[in-house]
Amino acid sequence: MNKIEHIGIAVKNLQEACSIYESLLGISCYKTEHVDSEGVNTAFFQTGANKIELLEATHNDSPIAKFLEKRGEGIHHIAFDVDDIVQEMSRLKAQGFVLLSEEPKMGADHKLVCFVHPKGTKGVLVELCQEIKNS
Ligand code: ZN
Repeated sequence: MNKIEHIGIAVKNLQEACSIYESLLGISCYKTEHVDSEGVNTAFFQTGANKIELLEATHNDSPIAKFLEKRGEGIHHIAFDVDDIVQEMSRLKAQGFVLLSEEPKMGADHKLVCFVHPKGTKGVLVELCQEIKNS
């Protein structure tokens, strides 16, 4: 795995959270995006080499809605950049990590993503993400 690509933060209200993070970081959100497969609206901030992703649920069955219900607002996941997500997924699976999907999914910010179950990672939801290269 490469660098931490972004840290995902679950929020109740994206608009409110965006303006708080704009004040906190001193930069503007560079992109908002709806990700249908996860039932979320996202907003991204570029902080140096890394990003912050704010996530708001778009419906009650969204994983973010369930997270907010259980844990409240806060850090939801840590995403690592990978060169080959399929290879990383099979490497992790072979070591007994539980992946939340069998195949990489289309994530936000032009990435293929896969999540690793937090029960095998000391309570941290880990996201693998691979940049989709336009060729
Ligand atoms: Zn993410």
